[in-house]
Amino acid sequence: MKYYSTEGKSEKVSFERAVINGLAPDRGLYFPERIGVLDKKVFDIDNFQTLSFEIAKVLLDNAIPDNTLKTIIDSSFNFSVPLNKIDKNIYILELFHGPTAAFKDFGARFMAYTLNYLLARENKKVTILVATSGDTGSAVANGFYGMENIDVIILYPSNKVSHFQEKQLTTLGGNITALEVDGTFDDCQKLVKDAFVDSDLNSKISLSSANSINIARLYPQSFYYVWAYNLLKKENDEIICCTPSGNFGNLTAGLLAKKLSTPINKFIAATNINDVVPEYLDTGIFSPRSSKKTHSNAMDVGNPSNFARMLELYDGNRDKMAKDIVGFKVTDEETLSTISDVYKRTNYILDPHTAVGYFACEKFIKNSGNNKLPIVLLSTAHPSKFSEIIEKTINVKVDIPSELKKVLEKEKVSIKVSNKYDDFKNFLMGK
Ligand SMILES: *Cc1c(COP(=O)(O)O)cnc(C)c1O
Repeated sequence: MKYYSTEGKSEKVSFERAVINGLAPDRGLYFPERIGVLDKKVFDIDNFQTLSFEIAKVLLDNAIPDNTLKTIIDSSFNFSVPLNKIDKNIYILELFHGPTAAFKDFGARFMAYTLNYLLARENKKVTILVATSGDTGSAVANGFYGMENIDVIILYPSNKVSHFQEKQLTTLGGNITALEVDGTFDDCQKLVKDAFVDSDLNSKISLSSANSINIARLYPQSFYYVWAYNLLKKENDEIICCTPSGNFGNLTAGLLAKKLSTPINKFIAATNINDVVPEYLDTGIFSPRSSKKTHSNAMDVGNPSNFARMLELYDGNRDKMAKDIVGFKVTDEETLSTISDVYKRTNYILDPHTAVGYFACEKFIKNSGNNKLPIVLLSTAHPSKFSEIIEKTINVKVDIPSELKKVLEKEKVSIKVSNKYDDFKNFLMGK
């Protein structure tokens, strides 16, 4: 099976090339020519790894041999994916039990093992460059840690990430190098972009990115939608899913799960005030713009790149898309009051991203009349990652899971660089 670019100006490629290239040469996103259908028996599987393997087999269509795929999946998802009933018909699917306590672990880990395998098969090595403002970097660093065919260089702005995030980025060692840039996040991003277009540099080392648009990061995010359905199917024919969204990778993966024949009745797309997609669903007009800062900062995206894939799934037709997806925009005030209300009522602590989703679920229930179908809210991060704002809101200390805390005891190792491209290039050439 081949993958085409959503921009339509690049050659179709195999799964291997789509993963290794990341972005298509015309800067479009890779998309599969066909999406299969799951065998009905798959919906009876009650083990997350076994289920993921069966779904991956259909999506990958033999691009990776079964025994290798099984190993990749077992190594990637070595943590639990619990579903908790919180209130009325709202269930929370906790996607934050991976090593960096956010759902990005699913995509980053699966991609790391997959890419490492594909590179070994071709006898290749790559250096991945990642610019981070804090969070994405740690999921990538953790996911790629220890991969023999991949070196990772993380660029982060000195003094502009939290102490905890810095520890997550700088204490792994091995194939992960942290560059502490004397500048801003934008400077880090610019250094990475300049490196990718520097032909002199690219003739000497093989550079790659672990961009969130990689198809190998998208696919594994569809597994847990099917998982949620399987957990609820005894009492329900269908479910509704609510996804707190920024770049819309997570929601797009849900749409793939539906396409694979999972009975998902509707998707609730919850955004903060960066509401380009909810606005499109309401008006049919897509108007990307610069993002605004909010408490749910991993969702501060003004030009969601996976929108191109959403259009592919609905043949560019807004009316079709709006039959499956309903959008809600949630303000910071609504986010904080939701954290506080839900805590008072149920004792459950929501992180700000999940709270955006929770507010949207309640609004959806109100607007649609007391809905009987269960709503699965995807919880994208552990609350302790945002303890400062949560403690201010509900006056309760949020415990950091012990696994996460370990990183605080490790020693920071970083290499300081200026924000000048020549310095960065010299560093890369000297490696
Ligand atoms: C990345 C992220 C999101 C947004 O996910 P998208 O796939 O970009 O829509 C939501 N919550 C958290 C905690 C994240 O890290």
